[in-house]
Amino acid sequence: MTQDTSSDGFVYLVGAGPGDPSYITLRAVQCLQRADVVLYDYLVNPHILQHVSAGVDCVCMGRHGQSPENQNSGDARKLWKQDEINVECIRLARQGMHVVRLKGGDPAIFGRAAEEAAALEAAEIGYEIVPGITAALAAGTCVGIPLTHRDKASAVAFITGHERDGKSEFSLDYKALAQFPGTLVFYMGVTTSRHWTQALLEHGMPADTPVAIVRKISCPEQITVKCTLKEVADQFEGEHRLRPPAIVILGDVVGDNELNSWFEQRPLFGQRILVTRAVDQADSFAQKLSQLGAEVILQPAIEIRPPQEYESLDQAIQSIADVNWIVFSSGNGVRFFLNRLVDQGYDARHLAQAKLAAIGPGTAAALKEFNLKADLLPEVYRAESMVEAMRPYVANQTVLLIRASRGREVLHKGLREAGANVQQIVVYQSLDVKQCSPSTMEAIEQGIDWVTFTSSAIARSAISLLGDYLRDVKSVSISPITSETMCELGLPPTVEAEQHDLDGMIQAILDYQNL
Ligand code: SAH
Repeated sequence: MTQDTSSDGFVYLVGAGPGDPSYITLRAVQCLQRADVVLYDYLVNPHILQHVSAGVDCVCMGRHGQSPENQNSGDARKLWKQDEINVECIRLARQGMHVVRLKGGDPAIFGRAAEEAAALEAAEIGYEIVPGITAALAAGTCVGIPLTHRDKASAVAFITGHERDGKSEFSLDYKALAQFPGTLVFYMGVTTSRHWTQALLEHGMPADTPVAIVRKISCPEQITVKCTLKEVADQFEGEHRLRPPAIVILGDVVGDNELNSWFEQRPLFGQRILVTRAVDQADSFAQKLSQLGAEVILQPAIEIRPPQEYESLDQAIQSIADVNWIVFSSGNGVRFFLNRLVDQGYDARHLAQAKLAAIGPGTAAALKEFNLKADLLPEVYRAESMVEAMRPYVANQTVLLIRASRGREVLHKGLREAGANVQQIVVYQSLDVKQCSPSTMEAIEQGIDWVTFTSSAIARSAISLLGDYLRDVKSVSISPITSETMCELGLPPTVEAEQHDLDGMIQAILDYQNL
């Protein structure tokens, strides 16, 4: 194997893990960041493609018997054969590209990594194989079934329920498997379950061997069904049958006790939550929701852009020595203002004589990112309270309001009435998003449980963008002002955050779910 040290093309055979986008190795992320093109299997969670640079082609290889639903480029109907995939990898690498061939789970467990590597070897293309968490391991941990156990299983076997065409159906040694001293895990065994369970029974495996079937492991739709060997095939037949992808774990490790799937017991498991914040802000919010088990659908209702001109901002920065108070009413305001200040060759000392006011904890946290401390934070995070909090200090003082291209006038008016000399500077634009991406639209059409509104402007834009889909959806509002807007628009919030920030919104959803 040659190393990836030159500008020659190179292929990374990468394991994407079982589904959850965070169950992926650091090396896999590095490869994706480096990729010029990605060829991915249908089982790969498309969210993992977030690590790929903008503009890089990501092609779904599809799968026989499955619609290539994740395909986002090329011929949507194409189902690639293994030979075609090998040829394509080689063709792209020969063009000097870094190709990531992304496979579900581990590339070498029922993943044909060896065949692809052999083809690359024969074509003298350099390659690297990056391991991934295979479905069986993730099932064991996400469901809380240890695949090995000191008293119950000293060995574990991974078995395919779907042997290659041309091999006789039962070329597996079922006699040996029926007597295997440990845990059996069947991959790809859904459509063939009648055959392989029968074969195990015929070779003497007890009909009441405990079984766990895990579908969509580590995904928001994960489901675990417990039964016995003789009942497995029934689970995969009939109207309410379990569908692929699923694996089947057999053996004493499954145990008699109730399954304790921490993954499925997380408080927001199964909830589909639409987050409407601007993309660069949504990350940590979305991450917290996902960690609580929710499936997060991102559709920013507002786009944040740099201001149309910097002249007035630059002027304000230059003459900041005359300012007594700088008032920030959003984290974005902080970032745009301070990044510009740094770009202009200054640092935090330039603000030394001014006092800083932040409207809420999120804004104060943004100041902290620049090692600045808010001197004033109103008790209630809204403009009216800010005016009250500042009133004792601002008579005859110069106050600079850092703001978006639109917003309420409460601060401006209130502080002027309190005797301040108020200047306003627009440091970023806030624009309504007019169209949803097709993949978000598809996710929304499949149904959502919650929608989150983090400001009045976002509520307005999201309701005009998606109003019809939101009528029967539970909603959470960040504050009374946002709730008022939502009521005006005919969509009163189901719950309102007691603490008017993102953590408060999450808490409000949790409280509602626990009712
Ligand atoms: N290389 C993959 C396996 C590919 S074979 C790995 O290491 O996991 C495809 C089979 O893997 C599916 O039929 C199913 O049995 C299993 N599988 C993969 N991902 C799964 C998931 N998220 N949930 C349940 N089973 C999964």
